[in-house]
Amino acid sequence: MRPNPYEAVPAVITDTIDETPLIRTLRLKPDRPLPFRTGQFIELSLPGVGEAPFTPSSSHFITDIMDVTIMKAGFVTEHIHRAKPGDRVGLRGPFGSSYPLEEFEGRDLLLLGGGCGLAPLRSLFLTLLDEIGKYKSVTFYAGAKTPQDCPFKDAFAEWHKHPQVKLVRAVDAVPPGETWEEEVCLVTGLLKKLDVDPRETPAVVCGPPVMMKFGTRDLLRLGFREDRIYLSMEKKMYCGFGQCRHCMMGEYYVCKDGPVFTYARIKDEEGIWD
Ligand SMILES: Cc1cc2nc3c(=O)[nH]c(=O)nc-3n(C[C@H](O)[C@H](O)[C@H](O)COP(=O)(O)OP(=O)(O)OC[C@H]3O[C@@H](n4cnc5c(N)ncnc54)[C@H](O)[C@@H]3O)c2cc1C
Repeated sequence: MRPNPYEAVPAVITDTIDETPLIRTLRLKPDRPLPFRTGQFIELSLPGVGEAPFTPSSSHFITDIMDVTIMKAGFVTEHIHRAKPGDRVGLRGPFGSSYPLEEFEGRDLLLLGGGCGLAPLRSLFLTLLDEIGKYKSVTFYAGAKTPQDCPFKDAFAEWHKHPQVKLVRAVDAVPPGETWEEEVCLVTGLLKKLDVDPRETPAVVCGPPVMMKFGTRDLLRLGFREDRIYLSMEKKMYCGFGQCRHCMMGEYYVCKDGPVFTYARIKDEEGIWD
């Protein structure tokens, strides 16, 4: 029987991790396992407050625990940030399309992300790591505004150790009083150093619209194929399964047809970077 898309699975918050002043990861234990494919999203509800869509940030091979990494953006996310271990939330889903892992097998891969766009990329990255033998290499370029805005600090230190992984972080600026020993540039500036064959490499891009726009432009200039650039689109979304029409992008619903699209598929739709 197909799961009822309106029905929320209750989950308990087992831990919270403050990643940055604005980003917090909730570790959730659903009352029953909630399988998803990396790149898909869930609707997380807080009783008496409301519901919002988020992409799990944990590996899709783990179904009894789910991490969700949330940036404070407004009413619902402010309340979610106040939640404590032991509090209960609801999870609906999973919804939408996922990253096509089969198409990544045997290849070099590029992950390019910034800010809270690093949440879905963390899920993809951890999922790839769980079966790293299937892939040639993973280059992960991660950006943030300043050092204190970098999420997953401890995890990044750990991920560096993997021989097939090339992880580079960049911040836009280092304010007085903060220290930083990695790159200082826009995350897209890291593409200059890329040493993979662009025609053969899938690139997964996730971040603020302006970063996605210029990141895609730079990838195309480098020779990446339109049908191998994967974008995780975020549009204002409510129902999560193609009924309310809030997330329409041209002929597509982001909730049903996305959130993962190739650039080739949506490049002619209006307002894709809005
Ligand atoms: C597929 C998908 C995956 C997402 N994954 C993540 C994630 O992993 N981590 C994360 O921090 N955020 C994620 N978001 C964005 C998150 O859903 C919004 O930040 C959240 O809904 C804001 O709700 P609010 O009430 O706190 O803010 P509001 O005050 O309602 O709005 C603040 C900002 O959030 C945007 N927003 C509001 N409601 C929605 C909505 N229903 N859908 C999308 N954007 C909305 C608004 O355009 C505005 O820019 C995702 C959005 C989508 C569509």
